[in-house]
Amino acid sequence: MKKFKAIFGLLRNYRLRLVSNFFCNILNAIFSLFTFAALAPFLHILFNTGDKIDVQKVSGSAVNQLWQRLSYSLEVYIRDHGQAQTLILMCCFIMILALLKNLVAYLALLSIAHIRTAVTRDLRRKLYQKILKLPVAFFSNEKKGDLISRMTNDLMEIEFSVIGAMDAVLKSPVMIISSLITLFLMSWKLTLFAFLFLPVSGFLIARIAKSLKHSARKGKNSLGELMSMIEETLTGLRVIKVFNADHSFGQRFDHQNEFNFKLMEKLYRREYLASPMSEFISLLVISIMLYVGGNIVISGELDGKLLIVYLVIFSQIIAPARAFSDAFFKINKGSASLDRVNEILTAEESIQDAPNALPLNQFNNQIEFRNVTFGYHGDPVLHDINFTIKKGQKVALVGPSGGGKSTLASLLTRFYDPIQGDVLIDGMPLRSMKLRDIRKQMGLVAQDSVLFNDSVTNNIAIGDDHPDPHKVQEAARIANAEEFIVKLKDQYEFNIGDGGSKLSGGQKQRLAIARAIYKNPPILILDEATSALDTQSERMVQDAINNLMINRTSLVIAHRLSTVHMADLILVIDGGKIVERGTHDELIAAGGLYKKLIDMQEFTRID
Ligand code: ADP
Repeated sequence: MKKFKAIFGLLRNYRLRLVSNFFCNILNAIFSLFTFAALAPFLHILFNTGDKIDVQKVSGSAVNQLWQRLSYSLEVYIRDHGQAQTLILMCCFIMILALLKNLVAYLALLSIAHIRTAVTRDLRRKLYQKILKLPVAFFSNEKKGDLISRMTNDLMEIEFSVIGAMDAVLKSPVMIISSLITLFLMSWKLTLFAFLFLPVSGFLIARIAKSLKHSARKGKNSLGELMSMIEETLTGLRVIKVFNADHSFGQRFDHQNEFNFKLMEKLYRREYLASPMSEFISLLVISIMLYVGGNIVISGELDGKLLIVYLVIFSQIIAPARAFSDAFFKINKGSASLDRVNEILTAEESIQDAPNALPLNQFNNQIEFRNVTFGYHGDPVLHDINFTIKKGQKVALVGPSGGGKSTLASLLTRFYDPIQGDVLIDGMPLRSMKLRDIRKQMGLVAQDSVLFNDSVTNNIAIGDDHPDPHKVQEAARIANAEEFIVKLKDQYEFNIGDGGSKLSGGQKQRLAIARAIYKNPPILILDEATSALDTQSERMVQDAINNLMINRTSLVIAHRLSTVHMADLILVIDGGKIVERGTHDELIAAGGLYKKLIDMQEFTRID
């Protein structure tokens, strides 16, 4: 039940519609019972046996007695108005009942239409909001394609199965209970007998449902796996083609696809078994009831016409009972998807504001890494890091790849929390401050300029709901981006394509820099791009970076010599430790790792 919490929680917003659905269902049940009950007078009109009923000597069940009185009145009517006219009257009565019954049925479905789509919308919204809130660490553990699959396929499955079954779950019990009450009133003996069979069929159905859930979970996981493969292939298509890896990728995909096919086939075989099996069980029950009911009629406890009405009503229980058991199957199948969605919804938001987080209105003094040790999973990647960046300083991180430079930068943005020690701004640990405030102080230019499928303006003014066109242009100018933007078709309104695919490497970087300039943060984190740019682009990007760094405190993962020269402090990071620190001249004079790196890559870049 716990896993349905999210859905129940969402359903609570639609209480009124649920009540209206319930009310319509009750009316629907009453109208349909009357429609079936109208069968008895029909039979009476058509097969009038001529038996004279004595109203003084009614017998049998309550309904049987009622029927005897009714058929007496019917006979009086037939005698006065004739058979044909009575038939017309009955038909009109049934037509009106049918109209009313279907009208309320439709009204009930209208509420369901709203609820099921609204709950799906709310669930999707909750998932997206959660994804925005979850820490970066969550996404390095999960595969992107699988996450997308959970947000699309699994959500759809929930809509169709769990929420879709809601109609049956709400409607069937009303139908079943009202029919059962009527049946009890007609013949309690026969009804009691029918009850004996319910636990047997219930048990059989529950067994299949259980195995279905298990297979559904496996099926969904395998589909998530497939989506991840497709996503990876789309991202790496160029490499796959050039390295002639299409064959091996094709095989890997076929293998997974085949696995998925087998799982799904098994799943559907079981699912399809549910329907014929419950039909078989119900027919078995009906034939036994025919025998028992027949005997009751022979004994004179029930009018034969009423037994026919009884069986019709009883057979009408089968449809909602089947719908209910089908819903049970569906919910079990869908609950595998619900589990997968819940895994996201209940994932721990390890990076969030402390209960009494402090505001950070302004950055005044310094950033400090104090005894910081950090590891992604278990083993530390950074060991006991200590350094300070005074306001206005530029600190460069250099060192061999894999040393821990990017990790160190992501601790400053609080993508992760240190295992030991603290990162402090103006003497206050990041953990004790409001996350939004910390990030307000920071700008980030990542190595791969992350751009979105949107206009130039919206890419520069990201996070600003009302971009100021003058500020956007000013930022573009300082970032040396104006020069190419004005040549684009719609200039600032030009859509730059998926990930900025309509722009060149250098243009993308300048746009990412313009974005940081637009935000105008006091602290800047810069992961310089290593991608080879032609000399002219490199020049422009470098100038843009220099403009960006003016009057700011910056932490730069440096790949370019010029940046390193400019730095107030250079930290050489190797194996998760600061192995050397000082200015360029000091480190060259010391003749250690830094000098070796510079010597090795004098004419290219250092990394
Ligand atoms: P650099 O930026 O100096 O190249 P990184 O900070 O990217 O180095 O990586 C430091 C170490 O942390 C490497 O050994 C890398 O394998 C590991 N690492 C980086 N990111 C993750 C991650 N998301 N999960 C696990 N390990 C990671």
